[in-house]
Amino acid sequence: MSIEQTLLQRSSAKCELCASEENLTAYNLPPENEVSADKSILVCATCSGQIANPETMNANHWRCLNDSMWNPEPAVQVMAWRLLSKLSATESWAQDLLDTMYLEPEVLSWAESNSAASVEDDSAPTFDNNGARLYAGDTVTLIKDLDVKGAGFTAKRGTLVKNIMLTNNPKHIEGRVNGIRLVLVADFMKKVG
Ligand SMILES: [Zn+2]
Repeated sequence: MSIEQTLLQRSSAKCELCASEENLTAYNLPPENEVSADKSILVCATCSGQIANPETMNANHWRCLNDSMWNPEPAVQVMAWRLLSKLSATESWAQDLLDTMYLEPEVLSWAESNSAASVEDDSAPTFDNNGARLYAGDTVTLIKDLDVKGAGFTAKRGTLVKNIMLTNNPKHIEGRVNGIRLVLVADFMKKVG
């Protein structure tokens, strides 16, 4: 049985993200080199087009993730998590869904495994609130209080975040606050030094 046939059977011939039944194709999740049904999802042309061209993403279309994020297939969970992470830069509902989403630890590390290796945005620079370009290893301070959902604390304005990492989203950086690794909005940061 081909991968596509396996996926058609698994999904009852529906897009595994939005449940559309039109123009379904198999999508192999990057950066997997292994092409298998376990590492693939069945998607419609609308979903695959927006995944391939993130600048065309229509946030409303992705409200379908509200349902598909609960799919038992790890590959679907990983794709939903990655899409919600991208959308959460501008959509608060996407952040809310991410906060309620639970991934098994190995599924989460799979979901995160693509963030450093993305080919889409790696040429786009990241800037702080003053327009200073940020690089991995920089130190920044928070320019406003930040409510850290899920961790139960507020990171105060002026908190130093050392040794930041860049993400595949130019609007986000990663850094440790209170020992917890967080994705932070670059626009709420000021570069130090
Ligand atoms: Zn779809």
